[in-house]
Amino acid sequence: MGENVLKFGTYVRVGNAAEAYELLQKNRNNKIVGGGIWMRLGSRRVATAIDLSACGLDQIEETETEFRIGAMCTLRQLERHAGLNALVNNVFEFAVHDIVGVQLRNTATVGGSIYGRFGFSDVLSAFLALDSYVELTGAGRVPLAEFVRMGYVRDVIEHVVVVKHDYRASYEAVRKAATDFPSLNVTAAWWNNTWHVTVGARPLRATLLQGVACGLTNEQPSEDELRALAASVRALSYGTNLWGSADYRRRISAPLAVQAVRRAAGIELSAALARELETVQVPKFATDEYSCRRVPGVDSSEVR
Ligand SMILES: Cc1cc2nc3c(=O)[nH]c(=O)nc-3n(C[C@H](O)[C@H](O)[C@H](O)COP(=O)(O)OP(=O)(O)OC[C@H]3O[C@@H](n4cnc5c(N)ncnc54)[C@H](O)[C@@H]3O)c2cc1C
Repeated sequence: MGENVLKFGTYVRVGNAAEAYELLQKNRNNKIVGGGIWMRLGSRRVATAIDLSACGLDQIEETETEFRIGAMCTLRQLERHAGLNALVNNVFEFAVHDIVGVQLRNTATVGGSIYGRFGFSDVLSAFLALDSYVELTGAGRVPLAEFVRMGYVRDVIEHVVVVKHDYRASYEAVRKAATDFPSLNVTAAWWNNTWHVTVGARPLRATLLQGVACGLTNEQPSEDELRALAASVRALSYGTNLWGSADYRRRISAPLAVQAVRRAAGIELSAALARELETVQVPKFATDEYSCRRVPGVDSSEVR
């Protein structure tokens, strides 16, 4: 049996992102280490491991127009930041609080999560529905949607930025069991007079549907618009892996997306549309009984 070990040739703790960028360009086997949680699962030899922990990138800063999340912030910081979560209707809290456990979330970083652009990512799905940007040392400020489409990038993420808007947002996921990887996740957000709906863990990486592409035009969508949303998410491509078949994912995509938009918009479904969608039940793990959802009128800390 081969060794499943991550090996570092040298380990350098740099003082700023420019130094890290310079080291990255010297050798394609030089790598940034975020929390190291994902990297350590692989078996590979890294020539120089570049540690950003002394670069001052571990804070969430608020300006008049945006929140700037340092790449070395942990998922736990993202989950617990009151101001940021208040802006986005607690989307970050609900997107990350079922990722394994507090210890892992205290170690995994925002930079590593976004750089990885993992298909299963709850973090990417949440950011992508918002007005988000990645600040790279070399390439500068890039819209997250563009970064998601880029191939391999030899650059350093310094910050992930969320621009302030009057968001109406909601995050929904289906997990086979609490703390498992998601079988499917959906984030819906209304900002700039447009709906933004991301569908992730398809198991391909999260994709973003905006405005007419997701069938929605009004802040309070009509039931016909919700039917159009259901059709547009069903039309996406889905794949099969241990966490669900393509067919299963397609079937739960519509009720999950409708639930996300309905909750973000604060509307109820008519009995007729509820019955239509009931042909596929969203599993209990995605409903109010499970901690993945806020319960109306109950402080979220009580359901965590
Ligand atoms: C057992 C397990 C279960 C998980 N379950 C889930 C889940 O259910 N949902 C979910 O969303 N996520 C899940 N994750 C992923 C986790 O949330 C993180 O996204 C992942 O660990 C990456 O973060 P990290 O800090 O560990 O990155 P690292 O492992 O340190 O790095 C990952 C990659 O990003 C690069 N990198 C790191 N930081 C930077 C930077 N600032 N600039 C440029 N490149 C950088 C590294 O070189 C590496 O290629 C899980 C992870 C594990 C180990």
